[in-house]
This record gives sequence, C-alpha cells and structure tokens, in this order.
Amino acid sequence: MSFFDELSKYDVDKFASLVDNVTDADVQRALSKEGAHTIDDFAALISEHARTHYLDVMVQKSIQLTRKRFGRCINMYLPLYLTNLCSNKCAYCGFSVMNKFKRVVLNLQEIEEELQAMNKMGYSNILLVSGENEHKAGMPYFEQVLPVAKKYAQYLQMEVQPLETDEYARLKELGLDSVSVYQETYHPGCYKSVHLGGKKADMRYRMETPDRLGKAGIDKVGMGALLGLYDWKVDLVATAMHVLYMRDHYWKTNLSISFPRLRPAQGGYQPHSPVSDGKLLQIICAWRIFDNELDLTISTRESAKFRDLILPAGITALSAGSSTEPGGYAHKGQNLEQWTVNDDRSVEDVVAAMEKSGFDAVFHNASTTYFKAQ
Ligand code: SF4
Repeated sequence: MSFFDELSKYDVDKFASLVDNVTDADVQRALSKEGAHTIDDFAALISEHARTHYLDVMVQKSIQLTRKRFGRCINMYLPLYLTNLCSNKCAYCGFSVMNKFKRVVLNLQEIEEELQAMNKMGYSNILLVSGENEHKAGMPYFEQVLPVAKKYAQYLQMEVQPLETDEYARLKELGLDSVSVYQETYHPGCYKSVHLGGKKADMRYRMETPDRLGKAGIDKVGMGALLGLYDWKVDLVATAMHVLYMRDHYWKTNLSISFPRLRPAQGGYQPHSPVSDGKLLQIICAWRIFDNELDLTISTRESAKFRDLILPAGITALSAGSSTEPGGYAHKGQNLEQWTVNDDRSVEDVVAAMEKSGFDAVFHNASTTYFKAQ
C-alpha cells in the first residue's frame, strides 16, 4: 500500500470544504496544541478564518518554534541545472518538449566548471537539477556526474526524474544526500490536464517516488505542490497527508517542504488558482506549526522584498545568486532558463540582508541543524 493507494480512497475535491468549513474553535485548538497535529488542524491553519483573525498569532508562534528548533541559521544551497532537455509535456514549464529551443546536456567538464564557479560563490550545498530524459540524462549520466559533483559538494541534493528504489540506493552510495520530487498537484483531473505526455503523465509513479526514496534510505526527501496549478486548498491538504504518511512509514527520513508558486515561463501558462503574498506567509507558518521538524525552503522564484519579509517566519533553507540556465554560472546567457529568477540580488546582498535581520547564512551544510533557542 503506497501513498497513492491511500489518497485514492478520497475525493480530493472535498479537501477544499474541509478548509472552508473551519470554525474559530478549530483554529484555536490547532494553535494551542503542543504535540502532533492532525489534518483537521492543518486545514484550520490554512483557512481564511485563521488568516483574517489569527495571522499575527501564527507568525509569532512559527517564529518561536523555528528559533527553538533551528536557531538563527539558514542553510544556503544553489541549484545546478544539468540539462534543459526533457521528454515530458508539462503545460506550465519552459523546458517542455513542446517548446522549440536549443537543448543542451552539460558534459563532465562543463559540470566541473559550473561547480568551480559555485564553490567560488561560497556554495558547497549543491542541488543538481535536470529535465527528464532517460536516454541522455538518466542513470548512466547520473553515475558519471555524482563523483564529479561530490568533489565540490559537502551536501548533494538532486531534483531530477523519478527513479527506481535500487537506483536511488546506488546514487546514495555515490554520495547523494537528498532528493526533491514535487507532486505539482494531487488532483487527478488537473494532473492529467497539465501533464500531456512523457513519463511524468504517470501520476501513480510520481506520487510513489517518496515511498521509493524512503525505502532506499535517502537522508532527506523534498516534497510540495506547485501552488497555483490547482486549488491550493486541495493540494496543501493532500501534501500534509503525504507528510503524515511519510512520518508514519519512513520515520528515519527527514522531510523538507517547498512552496513554489507558478510563475510565467516559455509557453505562457497562467496560474489557475494564484496564491497571494499574505496567503503564502500564512502557509509557511501553518507548515511550521503543523510539523516543527520540517525544513522549509524558499527559492529565488520569490521577490527580494518578500523573501526578506518571510525569512524569520519559519524558513530554514534558501538559495541566492541562482541561475536556472544550464551552464549559467560559468558562462551566463547562452541557454534558455527554466523559469525567471525573481530575486536577482547577488549572494553578498542577500547575506547582508539576512545579517541585518540577525540571521547567519550557513554555506557548509549539515542536513539537520541543532541549535538552542536564542
Ligand atoms: S516540469 Fe520538469 S518534467 Fe515537466 S517539462 Fe519541465 S523540466 Fe520537464
């Protein structure tokens, strides 16, 4: 029984009414609990009633819980885009096979040049990212790339096509620490309508990836939905169920959550259900209150102003100075970027803003940080 089987028992559209029908007592209960929170608690925390009447309380509680568990350190990571080649047809993504542009797959020398440039920027927490192409960017490619990456990365993450359990185990032997696999949406109808071809169209295979990662013993699994693709209430409640499922079945696996909002890309896809800045702040606080142990990650998809604002509220990992273009650190401007970076400040400027707010940017990574409350 996988999480896909678990979720199949529900009509996910009904998750929205769980959020819409929240009462004041529900929110108060969720806010006053010290221990484990339920899906009903999470629904209460992301509700409109909580945003209208309790957002300040949520922010304060989230800040307090985050400082107690993670201190004032923020783990800094940087994505390395290996290729813009992809066999999938995702309606919302610039790398989709439907879009015509020059495709590149970085070779080992180009990857080494990227890693050297990233090390010079101060980074050794590296996230390898690629489009999904089994033939040119599949396991044989990854088995060559990881030993090179490991020379420059203290902590190595991947966000690539879903793989088999034994393949993840092999990559773990080569030094892989963490894998992110975003479900995009948990709504079967929406999933089908935006994944028009390629292996990603198989919703079950994608949703069962965290199960395979847990079985392979990967240290950390990154999860989340692409906010805006479908009704965020449905996708957030389903993600919270997925988190509880992972906690139950793979208790040794650390979890991190990202909350990417759909942004314009080549192909011109527009968000179906946009999430406002205020709503995203509430969502971040809701995750922290729901599960104190989660790593919460924010990328350069968000604006500088907004990132500075939400940083204290629960974030534990951040990228800065990112390029979403393969080869973009050593040779900027030669290939198409996957999505538009919104916070384009230099690493130094981001770190200066963090220090001004009393936070330390940590460039050498530990998968988990243990600091006393400050
Ligand atoms: S979202 Fe990922 S799988 Fe889909 S087209 Fe873009 S790169 Fe390929």
